[in-house]
Amino acid sequence: MSWFGRWRRARILDKHAIPPDAFRAVVERLPILHGLTADELARLREAASLFIHDKAFSAAGGADVDDITQHLIALQACLLTLNLSEDSYRGWSEIILYPDEFLRQREEMDEAGVVHHSRDILAGESWHGGPLVLSIADVAASGLADGFNVVLHEFAHKLDMLNGDANGFPPLHRGMDAASWARDFSAAYEDLCARVDAGEDTAIDPYATTDPAEFFAVLTEVFFETPHVLLTESPAIYRQLQQFYRQHPLARLESHAHA
Ligand code: ZN
Repeated sequence: MSWFGRWRRARILDKHAIPPDAFRAVVERLPILHGLTADELARLREAASLFIHDKAFSAAGGADVDDITQHLIALQACLLTLNLSEDSYRGWSEIILYPDEFLRQREEMDEAGVVHHSRDILAGESWHGGPLVLSIADVAASGLADGFNVVLHEFAHKLDMLNGDANGFPPLHRGMDAASWARDFSAAYEDLCARVDAGEDTAIDPYATTDPAEFFAVLTEVFFETPHVLLTESPAIYRQLQQFYRQHPLARLESHAHA
């Protein structure tokens, strides 16, 4: 980082850091953060403070965007990137918040020139190069170590989109093998699709079978929320995500449980 970058960063943290008490209260509320070391928590507080300063939070549908909502989003977004580049969320700036699930209406023209209308009820949405949209009710239900996390899900799409459209293939780090990533993800995806098609009640949300981008986002939720489930279901994916996020959530949560 340039001297100007360091100066700007220090100045923002000096003026706008999340107050220690407020930070501790949000960490307490989010079991997926339990077990982080003091050093990791200090880095998370800095990253989350910079994140809130850099992003614009806007309300839609009469949403009440309070500090706690911003903290819940920032801490979980920055958990994903705790050991990644600090500018991982570059190239876009707006987070739009609805009070609850929201309706998206779309019109798409197919190759035959027919326009299709669709209506979806969504808890969150990520636009390539554009805003990230979240339902506050679903934000409040995320981070409880029960497997569901709309915040991690939508921000995982943002990481995936760092090298183009979301396709389940984010930019890998030096030393990671693209061929083994593709092989492991394809095999796990095909396996889950086959089990869902066969009517099996799977431990992984069947929404993951929508396409490879959703598979990556849903498995990111499982990796951080219920890592034991992912390690049991798909050890190869656990190891790939461990290399990608440079974190080992299972060891963290277990060390905390035994502490
Ligand atoms: Zn998604």
